[in-house]
Amino acid sequence: MAFFNANYQKLSENYLFATIEQKVQAYKAAHPEKKVISLGIGDVTLPLPKACLDAMHIAVDEMGKAETFRGYGPYEGYEFLRKAIAEGDFRSRGVDIAADEIFVSDGAKSDTGNIGDIFAKENVVAITDPVYPVYLDTNVMAGREVKVIPCREENGFAPVPPEFHADIVYLCSPNNPTGSVLNKKQLEAWVDYAKKNNAVILYDAAYERFITEEGVPHSIFEIKGAKECAIEFRSFSKTAGFTGTRCGYVVIPKELMLTANGEKVSAASLWMRHQSTKYNGTSYIIQRGAAGIYTPEGRGEVEKLIAAYHKNASIIREGLLAAGFSCSGGVNAPYIWMKCPQGLSSWALFDNLLEKASVVGTPGAGFGKMGEGYFRLTSFGSTEDTVEAVERIKKAFA
Ligand code: PLP
Repeated sequence: MAFFNANYQKLSENYLFATIEQKVQAYKAAHPEKKVISLGIGDVTLPLPKACLDAMHIAVDEMGKAETFRGYGPYEGYEFLRKAIAEGDFRSRGVDIAADEIFVSDGAKSDTGNIGDIFAKENVVAITDPVYPVYLDTNVMAGREVKVIPCREENGFAPVPPEFHADIVYLCSPNNPTGSVLNKKQLEAWVDYAKKNNAVILYDAAYERFITEEGVPHSIFEIKGAKECAIEFRSFSKTAGFTGTRCGYVVIPKELMLTANGEKVSAASLWMRHQSTKYNGTSYIIQRGAAGIYTPEGRGEVEKLIAAYHKNASIIREGLLAAGFSCSGGVNAPYIWMKCPQGLSSWALFDNLLEKASVVGTPGAGFGKMGEGYFRLTSFGSTEDTVEAVERIKKAFA
């Protein structure tokens, strides 16, 4: 009999969404007359921009003709998309990232989950609490030591560089689940920490498009010196409705070097080796669709899409604040982080809202110990439902 990876036994069972679903189904069965509204969904609801669809239709037709048919593509992604990304997401914002520092993928979950493969098991990893669980679980699977950086209300839920040493640090801004962002000064402190500790920052910017406030960095590479110590992850999932279509990318600057046995190797070359061994490229059709985001029409449509989610976010945020609830996020992110009222635990609030308001959210405890006492609400529903959900929450606690 083959042995399995015993590190999997160390993973905590994540019953969060399964438990939520169970409770919601039981409630619906007991109250078939009630309309349940979910502000818990982490998936988008608005369809793909027309610019992406048009580009994909053309690509589909190309695949049907011998002269334009494409088989295996480049492991790192087609140049047309990498060039569009470098220009559209970085150079146009004054950030010096070239097309050959971009690696296209099927999304940020795969990239943030797989990047650990290029790092040695002996590295000490730091993650935040609360956290997007992929960072934790993939490192537990790899058998690495994981240390936790608590994110507290008094720091606006922003992680502060710790006293302890870490070799790899995961940061997520705009943040899931808290909706907070790291400002320039805070990111500078992290780059400084990375330099002092010879650490690498794994920067998840999957929600970058949701940044609205002036002065909030859109990329870690806006910080001086970050190209020597950071990798950045981006996703088209929430930007342009690609959660089911699947496309994202990772930026690994040429300057980033890793070391082993006295030898220095570029992180980008290790990642290329990884991808060429384990990945056969993102579909041509999907990459054409993603390039549609960078056309003038695509840009306009993405702006509208994000604006619609922002409108919902502000309905939740302003509605709750006006009613005397305490919450943050929702300005540069699709997530609102609500403090549980009346000292309720996050699961007690969940049960309360389901029972009294037929509204579903996500208990903060599901994102880590520090998430206890908080509740995540998302802006991905319809505006009509969002308005009604906020009214019902207010009534339930009036
Ligand atoms: N990173 C964060 C912080 C997320 O919240 C998510 C999705 O919820 C992802 C990455 C995964 O994105 P993708 O759909 O590109 O795999």
